[in-house]
Amino acid sequence: MTRRLPAGLLPALALAACLCLPSRAGSSPAPGKTVVVTYSVLGAVVADLVGDRLAVKVLIPNGMDLHEWEPSARDVEALGRADLIVANGLELEAGLLRAIERARRAGARVFTASEHVALRRAAQGEGEQGEDEHGGHGHRHGAADPHLWTDPMAMKAVARGLAQELRTGLGVEVGDRLVDLERRLDALDAEIRAAVEGIPPGRRKLVTGHESLGYFAARYGFQQVGAVVPSLSSAAESSASQLAALKRVVAREQVKVLFTEVGTSPRVVDALALECGVRAVPLVTHAVPADGAYFTFLRDLTRTIVESLR
Ligand SMILES: [Zn+2]
Repeated sequence: MTRRLPAGLLPALALAACLCLPSRAGSSPAPGKTVVVTYSVLGAVVADLVGDRLAVKVLIPNGMDLHEWEPSARDVEALGRADLIVANGLELEAGLLRAIERARRAGARVFTASEHVALRRAAQGEGEQGEDEHGGHGHRHGAADPHLWTDPMAMKAVARGLAQELRTGLGVEVGDRLVDLERRLDALDAEIRAAVEGIPPGRRKLVTGHESLGYFAARYGFQQVGAVVPSLSSAAESSASQLAALKRVVAREQVKVLFTEVGTSPRVVDALALECGVRAVPLVTHAVPADGAYFTFLRDLTRTIVESLR
């Protein structure tokens, strides 16, 4: 079991991030070994894969803005003590990069999830919405998108790579659990595919807080047409000209819903909703729900999108 968070800080969500799935008979426990995962959604997949064969600890409290989080001295220590660190990479955990690198130099094993998936890169036009006279924009074409957890097939590839790492690096065998997890991820993919059939193709357009749904969009036939912060990170800010450009996109694409996330400015969203006549719908894109399960996370996300756009 992992560290508990102080009472009052998103207790249900935080506790959920620590839950592992029920154990199975015939497992081979590795007493005392700990995997430290940087964030909760990836942590949920790791916990699902390892069951009770390893302790899984999630570093960034569930619900925090991953792009902006900074570790405490205690968090840095926890990384140093891990038998294996599982990180996303692609600068998602920008505040943790130095601590992870230090742990790696001190001999810690590090598994980087994004090295195991087909990377999505920002397409022509993305992140350039309203490029202003100062040349300010979210990112260059071709910047690698870190939000791989919004595609269950990417997480399948991550689980496969991690199972291999656990075998060779820690001597822990999870092949049986991997087979089961892959089967359930395939079923989830089919379920999402069926659910989005309920949205007419012309309405499969996403406007989000930042560009967080690129993998989901590519997998399920959506277009990310705009974002309040036209960047792969919520840490950027939108300029007046970018917001003006977003208003034009909303009008041109006949978008009716603006999906807001952790890190999206409520002030900017309220103003946009009022001026454009769109509805602002909160969408959980970077955190697990109360049961701590990856599957519930993606089902909830899909349901919110389908109910809002159909
Ligand atoms: Zn993000």
